Amino acid sequence: MSDRETFEAGTDADVVVLGGGSGGYATALRAAQLGLTVTLIEKDKVGGTCLHRGCVPTKALLHTAEVAETARSAGQFGVLTAFSGIDLPAANAYKDGIVARAYKGLQGLIRSRAITTVEGTGRLVSPTTVEVDGRRHSGRHVVLATGSYSRSLPGLAIDGQRVIASEHALALERVPTSAVVLGGGVIGCEFASLWRSFGVEVTIVEALPRLIAAEDEASSKALERAFRKRRIGLKVGRPFEGVETTEHGVRVAIAGGETIEAEVLLVAVGRGPVTADLGYAEQGVRLDRGFVSTDERLRTGVPGVFAVGDIVGGIQLAHRGFAQGMFVAEEIAGLRPPVIDERGIPRVTYCEPEVASVGLTEAKARQQYGERIETFTYDLGGNPKSNILKTQGHVKLVRVADGPVIGIHMVGERVSELVGEAQLIYSWEAYPADVAQLVHAHPTQNEALGEAHLALTGKPLHAHG
Ligand SMILES: Cc1cc2nc3c(=O)[nH]c(=O)nc-3n(C[C@H](O)[C@H](O)[C@H](O)COP(=O)(O)OP(=O)(O)OC[C@H]3O[C@@H](n4cnc5c(N)ncnc54)[C@H](O)[C@@H]3O)c2cc1C
Repeated sequence: MSDRETFEAGTDADVVVLGGGSGGYATALRAAQLGLTVTLIEKDKVGGTCLHRGCVPTKALLHTAEVAETARSAGQFGVLTAFSGIDLPAANAYKDGIVARAYKGLQGLIRSRAITTVEGTGRLVSPTTVEVDGRRHSGRHVVLATGSYSRSLPGLAIDGQRVIASEHALALERVPTSAVVLGGGVIGCEFASLWRSFGVEVTIVEALPRLIAAEDEASSKALERAFRKRRIGLKVGRPFEGVETTEHGVRVAIAGGETIEAEVLLVAVGRGPVTADLGYAEQGVRLDRGFVSTDERLRTGVPGVFAVGDIVGGIQLAHRGFAQGMFVAEEIAGLRPPVIDERGIPRVTYCEPEVASVGLTEAKARQQYGERIETFTYDLGGNPKSNILKTQGHVKLVRVADGPVIGIHMVGERVSELVGEAQLIYSWEAYPADVAQLVHAHPTQNEALGEAHLALTGKPLHAHG
Protein backbone atom coordinates (compact mmCIF):
# COMPACT_ATOMS: atom_id res chain seq x y z
CA MET A 1 0.00 0.00 0.00
CA SER A 2 2.96 2.36 0.30
CA ASP A 3 3.38 5.20 -2.10
CA ARG A 4 7.10 4.95 -2.79
CA GLU A 5 7.56 8.45 -4.18
CA THR A 6 5.70 10.09 -1.35
CA PHE A 7 7.55 7.90 1.07
CA GLU A 8 10.96 9.04 -0.19
CA ALA A 9 10.05 12.68 -0.18
CA GLY A 10 7.94 12.81 2.98
CA THR A 11 4.56 14.47 2.94
CA ASP A 12 2.99 17.70 3.95
CA ALA A 13 -0.73 17.46 4.56
CA ASP A 14 -3.62 19.02 6.40
CA VAL A 15 -3.89 15.92 8.58
CA VAL A 16 -1.40 13.20 9.43
CA VAL A 17 -3.01 10.13 10.98
CA LEU A 18 -0.81 7.69 12.89
CA GLY A 19 -2.44 4.24 12.87
CA GLY A 20 -4.91 2.85 10.33
CA GLY A 21 -7.38 0.98 12.57
CA SER A 22 -11.03 1.86 13.12
CA GLY A 23 -10.25 5.26 14.66
CA GLY A 24 -7.44 6.21 12.28
CA TYR A 25 -9.02 5.18 8.99
CA ALA A 26 -12.35 6.78 9.95
CA THR A 27 -10.49 10.04 10.58
CA ALA A 28 -8.72 9.74 7.24
CA LEU A 29 -11.84 8.89 5.23
CA ARG A 30 -13.94 11.70 6.72
CA ALA A 31 -11.14 14.27 6.49
CA ALA A 32 -10.59 13.43 2.82
CA GLN A 33 -14.33 13.64 2.20
CA LEU A 34 -14.23 17.17 3.65
CA GLY A 35 -11.54 18.18 1.15
CA LEU A 36 -8.56 17.97 3.49
CA THR A 37 -5.28 16.41 2.36
CA VAL A 38 -4.47 13.35 4.44
CA THR A 39 -1.45 11.13 5.13
CA LEU A 40 -2.31 7.83 6.80
CA ILE A 41 0.58 5.93 8.38
CA GLU A 42 0.14 2.22 9.17
CA LYS A 43 2.79 -0.33 10.07
CA ASP A 44 0.70 -3.42 9.36
CA LYS A 45 -2.70 -3.53 7.61
CA VAL A 46 -5.34 -0.84 7.41
CA GLY A 47 -8.38 -2.01 9.32
CA GLY A 48 -6.34 -2.68 12.46
CA THR A 49 -7.46 -4.88 15.31
CA CYS A 50 -11.17 -4.79 14.53
CA LEU A 51 -10.88 -6.04 10.98
CA HIS A 52 -7.94 -8.42 11.25
CA ARG A 53 -7.85 -9.66 14.87
CA GLY A 54 -11.01 -8.47 16.58
CA CYS A 55 -14.64 -7.73 15.81
CA VAL A 56 -14.93 -9.20 12.34
CA PRO A 57 -13.11 -12.55 12.68
CA THR A 58 -14.59 -13.25 16.14
CA LYS A 59 -18.10 -12.58 14.90
CA ALA A 60 -17.53 -14.89 11.92
CA LEU A 61 -16.46 -17.71 14.26
CA LEU A 62 -19.38 -16.90 16.56
CA HIS A 63 -21.66 -17.37 13.57
CA THR A 64 -20.07 -20.77 12.95
CA ALA A 65 -20.79 -21.49 16.62
CA GLU A 66 -24.43 -20.46 16.15
CA VAL A 67 -24.77 -22.77 13.15
CA ALA A 68 -23.26 -25.60 15.22
CA GLU A 69 -25.83 -25.00 17.97
CA THR A 70 -28.62 -24.94 15.40
CA ALA A 71 -27.36 -28.21 13.92
CA ARG A 72 -27.22 -29.77 17.38
CA SER A 73 -30.68 -28.64 18.40
CA ALA A 74 -32.42 -28.87 15.03
CA GLY A 75 -34.54 -31.79 16.22
CA GLN A 76 -36.53 -29.59 18.59
CA PHE A 77 -37.62 -27.51 15.59
CA GLY A 78 -38.61 -30.61 13.67
CA VAL A 79 -35.59 -30.78 11.41
CA LEU A 80 -33.73 -34.06 11.12
CA THR A 81 -30.00 -33.43 11.15
CA ALA A 82 -26.91 -34.65 12.92
CA PHE A 83 -24.04 -32.63 14.28
CA SER A 84 -20.79 -34.42 13.67
CA GLY A 85 -18.23 -31.81 14.59
CA ILE A 86 -16.42 -28.63 13.61
CA ASP A 87 -14.17 -28.50 10.56
CA LEU A 88 -11.93 -25.73 11.87
CA PRO A 89 -9.91 -25.24 8.65
CA ALA A 90 -13.21 -24.70 6.81
CA ALA A 91 -14.49 -22.37 9.53
CA ASN A 92 -11.22 -20.44 9.34
CA ALA A 93 -11.46 -20.22 5.56
CA TYR A 94 -14.97 -18.77 5.89
CA LYS A 95 -13.75 -16.30 8.54
CA ASP A 96 -10.66 -15.33 6.53
CA GLY A 97 -12.79 -14.83 3.43
CA ILE A 98 -14.98 -12.31 5.27
CA VAL A 99 -11.92 -10.45 6.51
CA ALA A 100 -10.21 -10.48 3.09
CA ARG A 101 -13.28 -9.09 1.37
CA ALA A 102 -13.66 -6.27 3.89
CA TYR A 103 -9.91 -5.52 3.73
CA LYS A 104 -10.03 -5.23 -0.06
CA GLY A 105 -13.06 -2.98 0.18
CA LEU A 106 -11.39 -0.73 2.73
CA GLN A 107 -8.19 -0.44 0.68
CA GLY A 108 -10.28 0.54 -2.34
CA LEU A 109 -12.17 3.14 -0.32
CA ILE A 110 -8.94 4.68 0.95
CA ARG A 111 -7.51 4.79 -2.59
CA SER A 112 -10.67 6.34 -3.95
CA ARG A 113 -10.47 9.23 -1.48
CA ALA A 114 -6.91 10.09 -2.60
CA ILE A 115 -5.44 9.53 0.85
CA THR A 116 -1.65 9.22 0.87
CA THR A 117 -0.76 6.02 2.65
CA VAL A 118 2.62 5.35 4.18
CA GLU A 119 3.71 1.91 5.29
CA GLY A 120 5.92 1.77 8.35
CA THR A 121 6.22 2.46 12.04
CA GLY A 122 5.71 6.10 12.90
CA ARG A 123 6.95 8.17 15.79
CA LEU A 124 5.76 11.61 16.84
CA VAL A 125 8.82 13.86 16.62
CA SER A 126 7.11 17.24 16.86
CA PRO A 127 3.50 18.36 17.35
CA THR A 128 3.17 18.52 13.56
CA THR A 129 5.45 15.72 12.41
CA VAL A 130 5.55 11.93 12.38
CA GLU A 131 8.77 10.24 11.36
CA VAL A 132 8.75 6.90 9.55
CA ASP A 133 12.07 5.22 8.74
CA GLY A 134 13.90 8.52 8.89
CA ARG A 135 11.42 10.38 6.67
CA ARG A 136 9.22 13.13 8.02
CA HIS A 137 5.52 13.50 7.34
CA SER A 138 4.10 16.74 8.58
CA GLY A 139 0.65 18.15 8.84
CA ARG A 140 -1.22 21.08 10.30
CA HIS A 141 -2.88 18.51 12.53
CA VAL A 142 -1.79 15.11 13.81
CA VAL A 143 -4.23 12.45 14.92
CA LEU A 144 -2.88 9.67 17.13
CA ALA A 145 -4.68 6.36 16.60
CA THR A 146 -2.21 3.62 17.50
CA GLY A 147 -4.77 1.34 19.16
CA SER A 148 -4.33 -1.40 21.72
CA TYR A 149 -2.70 -4.76 22.41
CA SER A 150 -3.68 -7.85 24.41
CA ARG A 151 -2.54 -7.28 27.95
CA SER A 152 -1.38 -9.94 30.39
CA LEU A 153 -0.88 -10.09 34.15
CA PRO A 154 2.49 -9.46 35.83
CA GLY A 155 4.60 -12.59 35.48
CA LEU A 156 2.17 -14.30 33.09
CA ALA A 157 3.98 -14.82 29.79
CA ILE A 158 1.94 -15.38 26.65
CA ASP A 159 3.79 -17.98 24.54
CA GLY A 160 1.23 -18.16 21.73
CA GLN A 161 1.04 -21.96 22.04
CA ARG A 162 -0.43 -23.00 25.37
CA VAL A 163 -0.84 -19.61 26.96
CA ILE A 164 -2.50 -17.57 24.26
CA ALA A 165 -4.13 -14.20 23.61
CA SER A 166 -7.19 -13.53 21.44
CA GLU A 167 -5.12 -13.10 18.26
CA HIS A 168 -3.69 -16.61 18.73
CA ALA A 169 -7.12 -18.02 19.59
CA LEU A 170 -8.37 -16.74 16.23
CA ALA A 171 -5.56 -18.50 14.39
CA LEU A 172 -5.85 -21.97 15.98
CA GLU A 173 -5.78 -24.76 13.44
CA ARG A 174 -7.36 -27.36 15.70
CA VAL A 175 -10.20 -27.13 18.20
CA PRO A 176 -8.70 -27.69 21.67
CA THR A 177 -10.38 -30.30 23.87
CA SER A 178 -10.36 -28.01 26.88
CA ALA A 179 -9.59 -24.39 27.72
CA VAL A 180 -9.35 -22.05 30.66
CA VAL A 181 -10.36 -18.51 29.83
CA LEU A 182 -8.75 -15.99 32.14
CA GLY A 183 -11.08 -12.99 32.28
CA GLY A 184 -14.87 -12.89 32.18
CA GLY A 185 -15.16 -9.65 30.26
CA VAL A 186 -16.49 -9.27 26.72
CA ILE A 187 -13.63 -11.00 24.87
CA GLY A 188 -13.38 -13.83 27.43
CA CYS A 189 -17.12 -14.52 27.33
CA GLU A 190 -17.20 -14.48 23.52
CA PHE A 191 -14.41 -17.05 23.22
CA ALA A 192 -15.82 -19.20 26.04
CA SER A 193 -19.16 -19.21 24.27
CA LEU A 194 -17.86 -20.07 20.82
CA TRP A 195 -15.49 -22.75 22.08
CA ARG A 196 -18.28 -24.35 24.09
CA SER A 197 -20.37 -24.49 20.91
CA PHE A 198 -17.37 -26.15 19.25
CA GLY A 199 -17.46 -28.84 21.97
CA VAL A 200 -14.59 -27.56 24.13
CA GLU A 201 -14.65 -28.06 27.93
CA VAL A 202 -14.37 -24.42 29.03
CA THR A 203 -13.82 -22.80 32.41
CA ILE A 204 -13.84 -19.04 32.91
CA VAL A 205 -11.72 -17.67 35.74
CA GLU A 206 -12.63 -14.14 36.83
CA ALA A 207 -11.31 -12.21 39.83
CA LEU A 208 -14.31 -9.88 40.00
CA PRO A 209 -17.51 -11.20 41.57
CA ARG A 210 -19.38 -11.47 38.26
CA LEU A 211 -18.99 -11.87 34.51
CA ILE A 212 -19.13 -8.76 32.26
CA ALA A 213 -18.84 -6.65 35.40
CA ALA A 214 -19.31 -3.34 33.55
CA GLU A 215 -22.84 -4.38 32.58
CA ASP A 216 -26.01 -4.16 34.67
CA GLU A 217 -25.90 -6.75 37.45
CA ALA A 218 -29.06 -8.43 36.18
CA SER A 219 -27.41 -8.99 32.78
CA SER A 220 -24.41 -10.63 34.45
CA LYS A 221 -26.68 -12.91 36.49
CA ALA A 222 -28.70 -13.93 33.44
CA LEU A 223 -25.54 -14.64 31.44
CA GLU A 224 -24.04 -16.68 34.27
CA ARG A 225 -27.23 -18.75 34.51
CA ALA A 226 -27.19 -19.37 30.76
CA PHE A 227 -23.49 -20.26 30.73
CA ARG A 228 -23.95 -22.71 33.63
CA LYS A 229 -26.78 -24.35 31.68
CA ARG A 230 -24.41 -24.68 28.74
CA ARG A 231 -21.94 -26.35 31.12
CA ILE A 232 -19.35 -23.59 30.92
CA GLY A 233 -17.42 -23.74 34.20
CA LEU A 234 -17.47 -20.47 36.12
CA LYS A 235 -14.96 -19.48 38.76
CA VAL A 236 -16.01 -15.93 39.54
CA GLY A 237 -14.51 -13.97 42.41
CA ARG A 238 -11.56 -16.35 42.15
CA PRO A 239 -8.32 -14.54 41.23
CA PHE A 240 -5.76 -16.31 39.08
CA GLU A 241 -2.64 -17.33 40.99
CA GLY A 242 -0.37 -18.97 38.43
CA VAL A 243 0.06 -21.34 35.52
CA GLU A 244 2.50 -24.11 34.72
CA THR A 245 2.81 -26.10 31.55
CA THR A 246 2.14 -29.82 31.66
CA GLU A 247 2.77 -32.60 29.16
CA HIS A 248 -0.53 -31.90 27.39
CA GLY A 249 -1.27 -28.28 28.20
CA VAL A 250 -1.49 -26.10 31.28
CA ARG A 251 -2.32 -26.34 34.96
CA VAL A 252 -3.93 -23.14 36.21
CA ALA A 253 -3.97 -22.29 39.91
CA ILE A 254 -6.70 -20.04 41.28
CA ALA A 255 -7.50 -18.59 44.69
CA GLY A 256 -8.80 -21.15 47.16
CA GLY A 257 -6.13 -23.73 46.36
CA GLU A 258 -7.89 -25.11 43.27
CA THR A 259 -6.11 -26.08 40.06
CA ILE A 260 -7.65 -26.61 36.63
CA GLU A 261 -5.97 -28.55 33.82
CA ALA A 262 -6.65 -27.70 30.21
CA GLU A 263 -5.06 -27.76 26.79
CA VAL A 264 -4.82 -23.98 26.51
CA LEU A 265 -5.11 -20.90 28.69
CA LEU A 266 -6.61 -17.89 26.95
CA VAL A 267 -5.56 -14.65 28.61
CA ALA A 268 -8.36 -12.11 28.15
CA VAL A 269 -7.68 -9.61 30.90
CA GLY A 270 -8.09 -6.45 28.87
CA ARG A 271 -6.28 -4.39 26.28
CA GLY A 272 -3.50 -1.92 26.93
CA PRO A 273 -2.89 1.26 24.92
CA VAL A 274 -0.14 1.33 22.28
CA THR A 275 1.46 4.60 23.37
CA ALA A 276 4.90 3.71 24.73
CA ASP A 277 8.08 4.81 22.93
CA LEU A 278 6.19 6.66 20.22
CA GLY A 279 7.28 10.14 21.26
CA TYR A 280 3.90 11.03 22.71
CA ALA A 281 5.02 11.93 26.23
CA GLU A 282 8.13 13.72 24.91
CA GLN A 283 5.94 15.99 22.77
CA GLY A 284 3.75 16.86 25.76
CA VAL A 285 0.80 14.51 25.13
CA ARG A 286 -0.78 13.79 28.53
CA LEU A 287 -0.86 10.10 29.44
CA ASP A 288 -2.71 8.45 32.29
CA ARG A 289 -1.54 4.88 32.93
CA GLY A 290 -0.55 4.77 29.28
CA PHE A 291 -3.89 6.01 27.91
CA VAL A 292 -4.00 9.41 26.22
CA SER A 293 -5.98 11.94 28.26
CA THR A 294 -8.11 14.12 26.03
CA ASP A 295 -10.82 16.66 26.61
CA GLU A 296 -14.31 16.01 25.27
CA ARG A 297 -13.24 17.38 21.88
CA LEU A 298 -10.47 14.73 21.78
CA ARG A 299 -7.67 17.32 22.04
CA THR A 300 -4.54 16.03 23.74
CA GLY A 301 -3.39 19.31 25.25
CA VAL A 302 -0.75 19.76 22.54
CA PRO A 303 -2.15 22.27 20.03
CA GLY A 304 -3.12 20.53 16.78
CA VAL A 305 -2.70 16.99 18.17
CA PHE A 306 -5.80 14.83 18.66
CA ALA A 307 -6.27 11.21 19.73
CA VAL A 308 -8.96 8.68 18.85
CA GLY A 309 -9.85 5.04 19.49
CA ASP A 310 -8.57 2.58 22.06
CA ILE A 311 -5.65 4.77 23.17
CA VAL A 312 -8.17 7.24 24.61
CA GLY A 313 -9.31 6.08 28.05
CA GLY A 314 -12.89 4.75 28.00
CA ILE A 315 -14.80 1.91 26.45
CA GLN A 316 -12.75 0.18 23.74
CA LEU A 317 -15.08 -0.39 20.80
CA ALA A 318 -14.64 -0.08 17.07
CA HIS A 319 -17.76 2.03 16.57
CA ARG A 320 -16.51 4.45 19.24
CA GLY A 321 -13.31 4.73 17.19
CA PHE A 322 -15.31 5.37 13.99
CA ALA A 323 -17.36 8.06 15.73
CA GLN A 324 -14.32 9.71 17.28
CA GLY A 325 -12.45 9.63 13.97
CA MET A 326 -15.29 11.33 12.12
CA PHE A 327 -15.67 13.80 14.96
CA VAL A 328 -12.00 14.82 14.85
CA ALA A 329 -12.02 15.18 11.07
CA GLU A 330 -15.04 17.47 11.30
CA GLU A 331 -13.47 19.40 14.16
CA ILE A 332 -10.31 19.97 12.08
CA ALA A 333 -12.47 21.07 9.15
CA GLY A 334 -14.09 23.65 11.44
CA LEU A 335 -17.56 22.07 11.52
CA ARG A 336 -17.78 22.08 15.35
CA PRO A 337 -19.53 18.69 15.61
CA PRO A 338 -21.51 17.92 18.78
CA VAL A 339 -19.56 16.16 21.53
CA ILE A 340 -19.97 12.37 21.57
CA ASP A 341 -22.00 11.07 24.52
CA GLU A 342 -19.98 8.03 25.60
CA ARG A 343 -22.98 6.60 27.43
CA GLY A 344 -24.97 6.61 24.21
CA ILE A 345 -22.48 4.22 22.60
CA PRO A 346 -24.13 0.80 22.39
CA ARG A 347 -22.32 -2.15 23.98
CA VAL A 348 -22.73 -5.74 22.87
CA THR A 349 -21.24 -9.03 24.04
CA TYR A 350 -21.86 -11.42 21.15
CA CYS A 351 -21.94 -14.66 23.09
CA GLU A 352 -24.84 -17.09 23.35
CA PRO A 353 -27.04 -15.59 24.74
CA GLU A 354 -26.10 -12.07 23.66
CA VAL A 355 -25.92 -9.13 26.05
CA ALA A 356 -26.60 -5.63 24.74
CA SER A 357 -26.99 -2.31 26.49
CA VAL A 358 -26.92 1.44 26.24
CA GLY A 359 -26.96 4.18 28.87
CA LEU A 360 -26.63 3.73 32.62
CA THR A 361 -26.79 0.53 34.63
CA GLU A 362 -29.26 0.57 37.50
CA ALA A 363 -26.38 0.91 39.99
CA LYS A 364 -24.85 3.89 38.15
CA ALA A 365 -28.28 5.50 37.77
CA ARG A 366 -28.87 5.18 41.52
CA GLN A 367 -25.47 6.75 42.20
CA GLN A 368 -26.43 9.67 40.01
CA TYR A 369 -30.15 10.10 40.76
CA GLY A 370 -30.57 8.44 44.16
CA GLU A 371 -34.04 7.05 44.78
CA ARG A 372 -35.56 8.84 41.76
CA ILE A 373 -35.03 5.71 39.68
CA GLU A 374 -37.63 3.25 38.41
CA THR A 375 -36.91 0.02 36.61
CA PHE A 376 -38.96 -2.54 34.76
CA THR A 377 -37.80 -5.94 33.58
CA TYR A 378 -39.71 -7.66 30.81
CA ASP A 379 -39.04 -11.39 30.64
CA LEU A 380 -38.53 -12.67 27.09
CA GLY A 381 -40.72 -15.61 28.14
CA GLY A 382 -43.64 -13.32 27.28
CA ASN A 383 -42.29 -12.53 23.82
CA PRO A 384 -43.54 -14.96 21.15
CA LYS A 385 -40.58 -14.48 18.77
CA SER A 386 -38.13 -15.26 21.57
CA ASN A 387 -40.16 -18.36 22.36
CA ILE A 388 -40.05 -19.36 18.70
CA LEU A 389 -36.26 -19.04 18.84
CA LYS A 390 -36.32 -20.85 22.20
CA THR A 391 -34.22 -18.14 23.79
CA GLN A 392 -34.49 -16.82 27.32
CA GLY A 393 -33.55 -13.46 28.74
CA HIS A 394 -34.97 -10.04 29.43
CA VAL A 395 -35.26 -6.39 28.53
CA LYS A 396 -34.64 -4.14 31.51
CA LEU A 397 -35.40 -0.43 31.47
CA VAL A 398 -33.98 2.15 33.84
CA ARG A 399 -35.71 5.52 33.95
CA VAL A 400 -35.71 8.66 36.04
CA ALA A 401 -39.06 8.89 37.85
CA ASP A 402 -41.30 11.10 35.70
CA GLY A 403 -38.36 11.47 33.34
CA PRO A 404 -36.67 9.80 30.39
CA VAL A 405 -35.32 6.30 29.94
CA ILE A 406 -31.61 6.43 30.80
CA GLY A 407 -30.58 2.79 30.53
CA ILE A 408 -31.64 -0.26 28.51
CA HIS A 409 -30.18 -3.70 29.22
CA MET A 410 -31.00 -6.81 27.24
CA VAL A 411 -30.05 -10.48 27.34
CA GLY A 412 -31.09 -13.14 24.84
CA GLU A 413 -30.32 -14.58 21.44
CA ARG A 414 -30.18 -11.83 18.76
CA VAL A 415 -30.67 -8.89 21.16
CA SER A 416 -27.73 -7.14 19.47
CA GLU A 417 -30.23 -6.38 16.72
CA LEU A 418 -32.45 -4.52 19.22
CA VAL A 419 -29.76 -2.21 20.47
CA GLY A 420 -30.31 0.25 17.59
CA GLU A 421 -33.80 1.06 18.83
CA ALA A 422 -32.55 1.13 22.41
CA GLN A 423 -29.90 3.64 21.38
CA LEU A 424 -32.46 5.95 19.79
CA ILE A 425 -34.62 5.78 22.91
CA TYR A 426 -31.66 6.67 25.12
CA SER A 427 -30.12 9.30 22.83
CA TRP A 428 -33.38 11.09 22.11
CA GLU A 429 -34.14 11.11 25.84
CA ALA A 430 -37.45 9.41 25.19
CA TYR A 431 -40.03 9.05 27.94
CA PRO A 432 -41.63 5.62 28.29
CA ALA A 433 -44.87 7.10 26.95
CA ASP A 434 -43.08 8.25 23.76
CA VAL A 435 -42.03 4.68 23.02
CA ALA A 436 -45.24 3.08 24.26
CA GLN A 437 -47.24 4.88 21.58
CA LEU A 438 -45.09 3.43 18.79
CA VAL A 439 -46.56 0.26 17.33
CA HIS A 440 -44.04 -2.60 17.32
CA ALA A 441 -44.39 -5.35 14.73
CA HIS A 442 -45.69 -8.70 15.93
CA PRO A 443 -44.09 -11.18 16.36
CA THR A 444 -40.63 -9.65 16.67
CA GLN A 445 -38.17 -9.39 19.49
CA ASN A 446 -38.47 -5.59 19.18
CA GLU A 447 -41.91 -6.08 20.61
CA ALA A 448 -40.26 -6.83 23.95
CA LEU A 449 -38.94 -3.27 23.99
CA GLY A 450 -42.43 -1.96 23.19
CA GLU A 451 -43.99 -4.14 25.91
CA ALA A 452 -41.46 -2.99 28.51
CA HIS A 453 -42.24 0.65 27.76
CA LEU A 454 -45.98 -0.02 27.85
CA ALA A 455 -45.53 -1.54 31.29
CA LEU A 456 -43.47 1.42 32.53
CA THR A 457 -46.23 3.73 31.31
CA GLY A 458 -48.69 1.85 33.49
CA LYS A 459 -50.49 -0.02 30.71
CA PRO A 460 -48.83 -3.43 30.39
CA LEU A 461 -50.29 -5.58 27.62
CA HIS A 462 -48.57 -8.96 27.74
CA ALA A 463 -46.85 -8.40 31.08
CA HIS A 464 -47.79 -8.40 34.73
CA GLY A 465 -47.39 -4.72 35.54
C1 LIG B 1 -10.99 -10.28 20.03
C2 LIG B 1 -11.58 -8.89 19.90
C3 LIG B 1 -12.90 -8.74 19.57
C4 LIG B 1 -13.45 -7.48 19.44
N1 LIG B 1 -14.76 -7.37 19.09
C5 LIG B 1 -15.31 -6.15 18.96
C6 LIG B 1 -16.67 -6.01 18.54
O1 LIG B 1 -17.37 -7.00 18.29
N2 LIG B 1 -17.17 -4.77 18.41
C7 LIG B 1 -16.42 -3.66 18.68
O2 LIG B 1 -16.94 -2.55 18.55
N3 LIG B 1 -15.13 -3.75 19.07
C8 LIG B 1 -14.56 -4.96 19.21
N4 LIG B 1 -13.25 -5.06 19.56
C9 LIG B 1 -12.49 -3.83 19.85
C10 LIG B 1 -12.01 -3.15 18.56
O3 LIG B 1 -11.27 -4.05 17.80
C11 LIG B 1 -11.19 -1.94 18.92
O4 LIG B 1 -11.94 -1.10 19.77
C12 LIG B 1 -10.78 -1.14 17.69
O5 LIG B 1 -10.04 -1.94 16.81
C13 LIG B 1 -9.97 0.07 18.12
O6 LIG B 1 -9.57 0.80 17.00
P1 LIG B 1 -8.26 1.70 17.03
O7 LIG B 1 -8.19 2.38 15.72
O8 LIG B 1 -8.21 2.51 18.25
O9 LIG B 1 -7.05 0.67 17.19
P2 LIG B 1 -6.57 -0.56 16.32
O10 LIG B 1 -7.69 -1.19 15.60
O11 LIG B 1 -5.76 -1.40 17.25
O12 LIG B 1 -5.65 0.09 15.23
C14 LIG B 1 -4.43 0.70 15.52
C15 LIG B 1 -3.55 0.60 14.28
O13 LIG B 1 -2.40 1.38 14.49
C16 LIG B 1 -1.29 0.69 13.95
N5 LIG B 1 -0.09 1.20 14.65
C17 LIG B 1 0.20 1.11 15.96
N6 LIG B 1 1.35 1.73 16.23
C18 LIG B 1 1.80 2.23 15.06
C19 LIG B 1 2.94 2.98 14.69
N7 LIG B 1 3.86 3.37 15.59
N8 LIG B 1 3.10 3.33 13.39
C20 LIG B 1 2.18 2.95 12.46
N9 LIG B 1 1.08 2.24 12.77
C21 LIG B 1 0.90 1.90 14.05
C22 LIG B 1 -1.58 -0.77 14.22
O14 LIG B 1 -0.87 -1.61 13.34
C23 LIG B 1 -3.09 -0.82 14.00
O15 LIG B 1 -3.42 -1.16 12.68
C24 LIG B 1 -12.65 -6.32 19.68
C25 LIG B 1 -11.30 -6.46 19.99
C26 LIG B 1 -10.76 -7.73 20.10
C27 LIG B 1 -9.30 -7.87 20.45
